[in-house]
Amino acid sequence: MASLFGHGIVGFTLAKLISIKQAKLLVFLAISSAILPDLDVISFSLGIPYSHPFGHRGFSHSIVFSILWALILMFLFGKQNKFTWFVVIFFSIISHGVLDAMTSGG
Ligand SMILES: [Zn+2]
Repeated sequence: MASLFGHGIVGFTLAKLISIKQAKLLVFLAISSAILPDLDVISFSLGIPYSHPFGHRGFSHSIVFSILWALILMFLFGKQNKFTWFVVIFFSIISHGVLDAMTSGG
């Protein structure tokens, strides 16, 4: 199972590859976005089963969620470099599902 640190380092690396204003904010949000999908573990305490679409490794690990999340952050924080923001955040969060798919858990 990929660790939260392992997911976060991908977001960190992607954000560090580019140089824009607001770089520190982008690094922080890229790391947070790469870790974000695993917040769906709270679904267990809500009684949502693992295999449910909104269960662990469900919607929050999907491409649609990645696109939506990247669009939200792009419009909220990407003042001048919107496309760069979208690309970095999208690949940060989509990397989470890719790393999870390489594990034997779930
Ligand atoms: Zn995950």
